[in-house]
Amino acid sequence: MAITLATIPFEERYTLPPIEAVPDTPEEMREKQDRIRWLKVERKAVILAHNYQRDEVQEVADFVGDSLGLSQEAAKTDAEVIVFCGVHFMAETASILCPDKKVLLPDLRAGCSLAASITLDELRTWKAAYPEAVVVAYINTTAEIKAESDYCCTSANAKKVIAAIPEEKDILFIPDKFLAYVVAQQTKRKNIIAYPGSCHVHKSIKPEDVATILEEHPDIELLLHPECGCVSSCMAKVFDGTLPQERTYFLSTEGMVRHIRESSAKEFAVGTEVGILHRLKKGHPDKVFYPVNPQAVCAFMKTITLDKVLRSLEFLKPEVRVPEEIARKARRAIDRMLELV
Ligand code: SF4
Repeated sequence: MAITLATIPFEERYTLPPIEAVPDTPEEMREKQDRIRWLKVERKAVILAHNYQRDEVQEVADFVGDSLGLSQEAAKTDAEVIVFCGVHFMAETASILCPDKKVLLPDLRAGCSLAASITLDELRTWKAAYPEAVVVAYINTTAEIKAESDYCCTSANAKKVIAAIPEEKDILFIPDKFLAYVVAQQTKRKNIIAYPGSCHVHKSIKPEDVATILEEHPDIELLLHPECGCVSSCMAKVFDGTLPQERTYFLSTEGMVRHIRESSAKEFAVGTEVGILHRLKKGHPDKVFYPVNPQAVCAFMKTITLDKVLRSLEFLKPEVRVPEEIARKARRAIDRMLELV
């Protein structure tokens, strides 16, 4: 059955903030980082940063990771304040998991094009068309979308979540069509119905970028995030042998980190937002990393700067708090996911 979507194109559902240049000298940055570390102790705060954050912000974080790792850290922290260096839906997830804590998002413009691609009305219309289906919401969704869903998943555990749903049940997979494609291939499920949303950053990682990097580095290991715009064509090429099966991987960002740690390869092409390169280079100075598309930069993630983290800690705002009723419903979907990992 075709889905009737609102007529607003996906690209018009969000506003990309400009990427601010930070003119600080290394010395000024160090001073700000020291002040943040000091204030963090004063405020009994923990700083969680996503893999796509600016390098200097990752450096002050207590934990750097993907959406799943960050939500697990949020769930177990005993800090009173969580400074979330990521985007809005991630701060919402932390607020849902820790209703008694203050969750700060240093810049409220940190949205997400993927989360913006589905509205509550669209999801309800879709559910009404498939009343027996199970709704699996990627973690990149708003709290109110999670509240209308049965399960949550991340790119790291989507396969496991799908495997936990009885074979005969149709699955409405929202909102990323590329991840839905990868998971359907990996689980061999024919009844995954994909919502047509996508992330504008990962969508920009195209088959021609992969072709170019492989031409320049034919023996490289290719690591692609399942949200990428090239995944369907790359998977098809793996199946027909055009891409080397033993050197092509579809991985979440944490999956990439783990894979690189265990691989004996020395060179990797990394298909995801370029912020992760900081962590990879830092962890593996003996290995070489090339972005598949160096322009794959998330302006939402880059809104968070050291100055804004500092201000958040000083004034304990801006705060993200999910209304209790929505949080209670959304938590069911998140807990079901966390029980499976
Ligand atoms: S990289 Fe894409 S999915 Fe991730 S926060 Fe940015 S817009 Fe959203």
